[in-house]
Amino acid sequence: MEKYNIDKIRADFPILKREVNGKPLVYLDNGATTQKPNAVINSIAHYYTDMNSNVHRGVHYLSQISTDAFEVTRKKLQSFINAPEDKQVIITKGTTDSINLVATCYGRAFIHAGDEIIISAMEHHSNIVPWQMLCDEKGCKIRVIPMNDKGELDMDAYQNLINERTKLVAVTYVSNALGTINPVKEIISIAHKHGAVVLIDAAQAVQHIQVDVQDLDVDFLVFSGHKMYGPTGVGVLYGKEDLLNAMPPYQGGGDMIKEVTFEKTTYNELPFKFEAGTPNIEAGICLNEAIDYINSIGLKNIEAYEHELLEYALEKLSQIPGMKFIGTADQKCSVISFIIEGTHPYDVGVILDKLGIAVRTGHHCAQPVMDRFGIPGTIRASLALYNTKEEIDILVAGIQRAVNMLV
Ligand SMILES: *Cc1c(COP(=O)(O)O)cnc(C)c1O
Repeated sequence: MEKYNIDKIRADFPILKREVNGKPLVYLDNGATTQKPNAVINSIAHYYTDMNSNVHRGVHYLSQISTDAFEVTRKKLQSFINAPEDKQVIITKGTTDSINLVATCYGRAFIHAGDEIIISAMEHHSNIVPWQMLCDEKGCKIRVIPMNDKGELDMDAYQNLINERTKLVAVTYVSNALGTINPVKEIISIAHKHGAVVLIDAAQAVQHIQVDVQDLDVDFLVFSGHKMYGPTGVGVLYGKEDLLNAMPPYQGGGDMIKEVTFEKTTYNELPFKFEAGTPNIEAGICLNEAIDYINSIGLKNIEAYEHELLEYALEKLSQIPGMKFIGTADQKCSVISFIIEGTHPYDVGVILDKLGIAVRTGHHCAQPVMDRFGIPGTIRASLALYNTKEEIDILVAGIQRAVNMLV
């Protein structure tokens, strides 16, 4: 492995040079969204300067080059997650949109009254609410895999919950609130033994670890472009071909049809059946640059670097009096959630902001996780491939200062 060139990497992200409140920005809110490298930023200007045109429509030159570029991203995504075919990669607005698509289309066709859907205690709201909406409509039921005090799923409880009524299991690969990496391959294999299909929420996984849909044998996998150094407004639904073919379309409109008369409409093939209307063309095309960027460093190298940062941060943070980590799983990504005795997360967050340090405070769109630990929220520092040990030191000093002011 070539040495991990952190200076060069940081230079690729122009926003990291700016100041916030008169201090150099220390951006530790990557779980909410990541910053973008020059390659992505420049490609957005390039798209509008040189290519702007609608996709999958015109015979004219610009429409053809923008369509080609959009489809290059699809192929890039296919190899990024090792999907068998590019038509299994549906381009959506993001993770939330992808989960709603599956809940709506798979749910509409294959989930009925009395059926059960299993989710976990550490899901993001976007992997809870669409299933609740489906259950309200259909009269099916949600069962929840509990977790232990370290924030690890209770796999014995999962084995006890799953049965012949279970039609679908929807679990996050990596928890955005706790950093836990779940044993998704095992979760999938257990579900398949009971005839249930599995959706994996990989919104916090694909930017940190190698994800291989064929190795996992996952039925549906979803993620967002903006959390993997790409643009906002684009995401992915990967699905097994037979499942996607069997599902009814999501929205009706342009691009998703083959033939329309007032009497009858026939639907387009995959992936277009699920891509009604003009997509976010710019984001779709420019996501390609984000994947190239990740690949140029290599996920193995990113994983090793972020793990080293995580260990360093845990060791330094644990020296702060009153520090309590929320989520101490053995298998963990670089997401650190904590509370500090005698302080409210919000107050600490405000003081850190004055020091130019961006963290997230609150429930992180995972209120049931906070309820499980009996707290209103946490402070979350989520680390990305461009963060440094120096930034961790600044965070630790900032927290120390906040504690001195607040306690
Ligand atoms: C961010 C996130 C989502 C929602 O993603 P959007 O990009 O907001 O649609 C879902 N699940 C997890 C685990 C997340 O971190």
